[in-house]
Amino acid sequence: MSKVIIIGAGGVGGVVTHKCAQLPEIFSEIILASRNEDKCKAIAAQLDRPIRTAQVDADNVPELAALLEKEKPDLVINVALPYQDLHIMDACLAAGVDYLDTANYEPLDTAKFEYSWQWAYREKFEKAGLMALLGSGFDPGATNVFTAYLAKHYFDEIHELDIIDVNGGDHGYPFATNFNPEINIREVTAECRHWEDGKFVTTPAMSKKASFTCPEGVGNYNIYRMYHEELESLVVNFPTLKRAQFWMSFGDSYLKHLEVLGNVGMTGIDPIDYNGQQIVPIQFLKALLPDPSTLGPRTKGKTCIGCVVKGVKDGKQKIVYLYQIKDHQDCYAEVQSQAISYTTGVPAMIGAKMMLEGKWKKPGVWNIEQFDPDPFMEDMNKYGLPWQVMELDNFNLDD
Ligand code: NDP
Repeated sequence: MSKVIIIGAGGVGGVVTHKCAQLPEIFSEIILASRNEDKCKAIAAQLDRPIRTAQVDADNVPELAALLEKEKPDLVINVALPYQDLHIMDACLAAGVDYLDTANYEPLDTAKFEYSWQWAYREKFEKAGLMALLGSGFDPGATNVFTAYLAKHYFDEIHELDIIDVNGGDHGYPFATNFNPEINIREVTAECRHWEDGKFVTTPAMSKKASFTCPEGVGNYNIYRMYHEELESLVVNFPTLKRAQFWMSFGDSYLKHLEVLGNVGMTGIDPIDYNGQQIVPIQFLKALLPDPSTLGPRTKGKTCIGCVVKGVKDGKQKIVYLYQIKDHQDCYAEVQSQAISYTTGVPAMIGAKMMLEGKWKKPGVWNIEQFDPDPFMEDMNKYGLPWQVMELDNFNLDD
């Protein structure tokens, strides 16, 4: 029996709220809080059990801390934007509440995301006897747990990791992003970094492309190597990794639009003066693009996200692929959302459940792969994200 406050009423916030509401024996009291309370109320109205809503600006630490002190929740589930992470962690420390998120901190004025800022809170959380679980979405999140699960059950030592995120869904728009457009575009236009022989190697964004055939008939897709935040913690927590790469599928229409928008300056993050008003181009672009939380009814197809690990077991080389496939329309039927928000929101609920049940409970700031992967993997099968494992004879994305 626990009380949680979910912060952020966007695409992911909607799914987390639905999934927590499905488990009243764990999440006995739910408060959904966001900048705009009407969005919280709209989500609450979709549920078949009552929850409370609240208005809060999570960037205002005293305001959020006051809400936490008044409500005394057991846990804050942060599914607002990465810009809010440190403010929400500060409010949790002030009010003595555990914390969970799905994306690492990113400063608003620099397109740079890394764990250093949140790792710097380790001592504060430890001293306060509080726990912060970082990156409990799908990627990061499930992909980190997949890596830990493979390392635990299939290998003595892991050497190479390829995380492959394919979205085989189509929403019918020439250009739209599946989660917050600003965060999505900042992520995919960033320089690529991958781990190679003990260090990160930088290459231009989207400069390495490969072809990947998903299992179970999901199809063949062009995937592009890019930097993704889970690489940073995985290479620390699995120091035997010699190479770690992250790949994501993009359609030609998405890439063409992104190139043009970049060329004309619409993806810029620095304010420009327009008729005496300061406008940030990427924020203006976000206002023009479809809201990701409205893509659910029109998105068809499947996601296929997984990890290919190469390593050694009993002296023999081995390659194992662990993946999860999710149908967009099935997600919509269950929680009125497309699969990108669904595959993020379910692991956020499961991470919260792990903490509230005491299965994962340790003061400090932790990345998700630092805990026993088994109970999380069991719950993925139970709560909508069943996964599969297959051994491969060979695997090569270098051609
Ligand atoms: P949305 O933009 O749809 O939703 C964000 C929500 O946060 C909105 O309701 C927004 O309010 C609210 N919010 C923003 N700023 C504040 C603030 N200062 N105080 C209170 N509420 C605020 O984003 P998504 O739902 O698509 O994404 C949510 C998070 O999930 C992001 O951090 C994203 O990076 C992460 N994510 C993680 C993935 C993973 O696999 N790990 C995958 C996809 C997303 P308003 O409506 O007023 O703007």
